[in-house]
Amino acid sequence: MKQNRRNFIKKTTMLGALGLSGHLGCAAKSAKKTSSGPVVLSTWWHGIPANKAAWEILGKGGKAIDAVEAGVRVVESNPEYQSVGLGGRPDRDGNVTLDASIMDEKGEAGSVCFLQHIENPISVARKVMEETPHVMLAGDGALQFALQNGFVKKNLLTEKSKKAWEEWKIKSKYKPIINIENHDTIGLIALDKNGDLSGACTTSGLAYKMYGRVGDSPIIGAGLFVDNEVGAATATGMGELMIKTVGSFLIVELMRQGATPIEACKEAIQRIVKKTNYEDMQVAYLALDKNGNKAGYALRGGFGYAVMENGENKMYNADSYLK
Ligand code: ASP
Repeated sequence: MKQNRRNFIKKTTMLGALGLSGHLGCAAKSAKKTSSGPVVLSTWWHGIPANKAAWEILGKGGKAIDAVEAGVRVVESNPEYQSVGLGGRPDRDGNVTLDASIMDEKGEAGSVCFLQHIENPISVARKVMEETPHVMLAGDGALQFALQNGFVKKNLLTEKSKKAWEEWKIKSKYKPIINIENHDTIGLIALDKNGDLSGACTTSGLAYKMYGRVGDSPIIGAGLFVDNEVGAATATGMGELMIKTVGSFLIVELMRQGATPIEACKEAIQRIVKKTNYEDMQVAYLALDKNGNKAGYALRGGFGYAVMENGENKMYNADSYLK
């Protein structure tokens, strides 16, 4: 009894410090299991095919780590998606440079950033995680590692993306676009039948960015974070804002302290509002807790995410801070 009371006081104090004390009732709800089987959720419309590929594994009782990799690979390899992998929009000088990260249920992490010429950076990130003592490889070092591990060098700039870039060059005078249309990273988080969580995040980054710019997606804690005891979170949008606020880590930590996924996402967006100059920019988060509770929330309207559970794959419009 005494122990419970002490825990209660500890929890209320912690939540109070986070400005969440008013939601303690809701926070307690997060402990309830809402999903009886595997769940996968991912950002934007390309989340539908990604979830489907992930479900091929999850639906058969496979591991979340295999599902998240398989899911995002589908989007990386499709040249029609101009924000990830093959066909991604280039930087302002015409180079397609890719960022990706992956985390498994053991808390292991791997990432690559500023990687060129490789269609599936997520699989390189997984190799970094599983076969090196490191977490992150960058640029030429990441490319060299990929080639040594059997990945094939490719031209990732499709005619369609090249044409769009050439048109952009005429009007934009090399100012990187920072509005809401050019953010379409795939972040995908999943819970498997065994109750294990994993996540993957992959992107060609901000369209027409400066050469060498790295976003949030390969930064563990910014674009992706997984703690198998608590939950997982991933992000899309203007990466600089998530890096400055370590958004995905923040969401998982808030859930650890009792916030529901939606409360945690709202607080992370609130942090961006309070601490950054977010004018004209979009940021959106997805969160999934250990019990299968999930949420999506964005800074402004227009963010959609796909959820697949019980074999059903559906799009949702996320609620947002700015209406
Ligand atoms: N988060 C990505 C970045 O800043 C962009 C995106 O979500 O499309 O690189």
